[in-house]
Amino acid sequence: ATPMSIMVATGRGAQAGVLVRDAAALESLAKVDVLMVDKTGTLTEGKPELTDVIAADDGMDEAEVLSLAASLERGSEHPLAEAILAGAESRGAVLHETTDFEAIPGRGVRGRVAGRAVVLGNLALMRVLDADLGELAGAGERLQEAGKTVMFVAVDGKPRGSWRRRTRSSPPPARPSGCSAVRGSRIMMVTGDSERAARTVAGALDIEDWRAEAVPEDKRDIVAELHARGHHVAMAGDGINDAPALAAADTGIAMGTGADVAIKSAGVTLMRGDLNGIVRARLLARATLSNIR
Ligand code: ADP
Ligand code: MG
Repeated sequence: ATPMSIMVATGRGAQAGVLVRDAAALESLAKVDVLMVDKTGTLTEGKPELTDVIAADDGMDEAEVLSLAASLERGSEHPLAEAILAGAESRGAVLHETTDFEAIPGRGVRGRVAGRAVVLGNLALMRVLDADLGELAGAGERLQEAGKTVMFVAVDGKPRGSWRRRTRSSPPPARPSGCSAVRGSRIMMVTGDSERAARTVAGALDIEDWRAEAVPEDKRDIVAELHARGHHVAMAGDGINDAPALAAADTGIAMGTGADVAIKSAGVTLMRGDLNGIVRARLLARATLSNIR
């Protein structure tokens, strides 16, 4: 491609909310035949919302559970952390001092809040703790069935509550199978969220190919497997947990609403995070390359 056509394309892309780093990224995007997408923050809206807090029936109340969890999330840049913090603020929760914060990518976070050991994250993380979720497990399953992301919190090793975050797609998602721009390329959703939530979201978007409970290394390994089978892979993701897969993909597509590390490891950044943007970006790349052919 000529420098001029690349400049025109990148300019037009920027107007459409698609930032392409350089000519190589644009050319690579045009060749993509498998599009791998992360769910949370990519297919679902970048600004999730905390809907409910459920406390285990053993003494600690909702406000206390939320206050411990939100205090911990101040250290995280995950979109779920922002949702919990905003939810805590609107409910007037008091935040405590947090030490020993640690992010567990694709799983959750942990640290010490007001002298107590707090762990917050998905079911897989609770399994590692060998936590008996009791009645919280059933409540969580029902919410996941509705496509909601459920997180659990354990305080001093005991499960204390769970909450759900509304999962919405915004703007209304493109339906991949019905969209000519994506026809001919395979779409695959890969998420660290639960099977149930993944199945519901994939179903709503007509995505037949999906994997749930994937940690960052799984996402990267899936890219490698696709490479081994000769595919040209684009990976779209928003988080720290997506960085290894973004770097491994032929074309890394980061969400502008996502983590800095994701943007740094991607050749393409979408200012509005949705499938439509990815479709626009790919169309633009193809048009540019055919113009100069
Ligand atoms: P996705 O792949 O869908 O973007 P992630 O890999 O970022 O999801 O996270 C997977 C799961 O791990 C989330 O659904 C959530 O349950 C848990 N999790 C990850 N980070 C956090 C966090 N900062 N706070 C609470 N839970 C988290
Ligand atoms: Mg994500």
